[in-house]
Amino acid sequence: MPKGPKFQTVTGMHDILPEDQQYISKIWSVVNDLAKFYGFSKIDTPVLEDALLYEKGTGAGTDIVEKQMFLLKTKGGDLLALRPEFTPGIVRAYTEHGMMNLPQPVKLYTYGPLFRYEHPQAGRFRQFNQIDFEVFGEQSSAIDAQIIQMFYTILKELKFTHLIIEVNSIGDSQCRPYYKKLLSNFLRPRQYSLCSECRRRIKENPLRVLDCKEEKCQRVKAQAPQIIDHLCEECKMHFKSLLEFLDEADLPYHLDPYLVRGLDYYTKTVFEIFPERGAEDGEGRPSALAGGGRFDSLVKLLGGRDVPASGAAAGVERIAAIMRSKGLLQASENTARVFLAQLGDSAKKKTVKLLEDLRKANINTAESLGRDSLRAQLGRADKLGVEFTLILGQKEVLDNTIVIRKMDTGAQETVKLDHVVEELKKRLRK
Ligand code: AMP
Repeated sequence: MPKGPKFQTVTGMHDILPEDQQYISKIWSVVNDLAKFYGFSKIDTPVLEDALLYEKGTGAGTDIVEKQMFLLKTKGGDLLALRPEFTPGIVRAYTEHGMMNLPQPVKLYTYGPLFRYEHPQAGRFRQFNQIDFEVFGEQSSAIDAQIIQMFYTILKELKFTHLIIEVNSIGDSQCRPYYKKLLSNFLRPRQYSLCSECRRRIKENPLRVLDCKEEKCQRVKAQAPQIIDHLCEECKMHFKSLLEFLDEADLPYHLDPYLVRGLDYYTKTVFEIFPERGAEDGEGRPSALAGGGRFDSLVKLLGGRDVPASGAAAGVERIAAIMRSKGLLQASENTARVFLAQLGDSAKKKTVKLLEDLRKANINTAESLGRDSLRAQLGRADKLGVEFTLILGQKEVLDNTIVIRKMDTGAQETVKLDHVVEELKKRLRK
């Protein structure tokens, strides 16, 4: 046998195998339904954009731009980046296609792959999928609350239970510069108690020190001044009304005065949603499912009009991994509740039409058309844990009837074949 190279997925990349597609499809379907309900239109932007878009938009001092971009030079000499996040591309599209001339707010959503040169580990990949929602042209904190509520509802619809929403306000160009100064003044005398990366950050971007997960930096952070004590009147009012909206919507939020998020463009509201309090990845970094906030200066910064905006994104692989490990899909409507067993050729022929009738009636039904033995088929029905098995044998085909077997008691009833869908609906409702 000739020996060739043994190909494997490249570091940080992963296949989404057939058995995992069900989680992804379920996520897309919940997202599409909710987007429709909340009036969001779908947009798709290219995977490749001008690298400068992220340098300006995401921010030159962020981890994403400094360390994580996959860059490539075209034959024509252009420097492009594989998109590491959605927001700058959607902002570009909003301006490029004149969407500021449409009635505002413009609500857009998308999903698809992103690329970041990460240190790969569980829940952290170099290619991963996100769901992303953005709203342009609305200043009110009601929109921020709606975005938080939407992501919370998406996760609830996917059967997540102990969700925690962390919120904060990081001010705006009025109040943040003063807070940054205050923070630098606090950090400078303590710089030798910080990691080397944070020592550098004090000068370049002191807010990022609050984001560091090194234990020694956390200890310093715990004493640091909090931005919410230094918000200007406008940001204070905005944050107050956001919290009122969240209270009104009965959302389980927690105020984290040190939440800043890793990106430069946020103004006022920032938030993250966790599967439970203190969820962390292998490197001790918080393992958020979703995160976002307001970015009132970004459209203008990227060459557009002065348009306020707010948005958020959620990580699809992280959501799917929890759905799989906690069996959240089994608890939903995806599992078969009925098994259709057949005995003999003429019964097999009839099951094809019957299966179609059951599908139209939305009754999730499994079968084993390839198996002839009734014992083997009942064994499979048992394994699947269905509530009812329909048995169509030679005698039933002649009588135009079918047997409904209740799996937990073994009780069997014979009903007219034409009535079986209605009969099943009645029993499944109970
Ligand atoms: P971010 O764009 O960094 O705010 O991330 C938003 C969400 O995307 C996070 O809460 C994660 O669920 C997910 N996410 C971010 N980075 C990765 C990654 N490298 N691999 C998998 N999921 C990620």
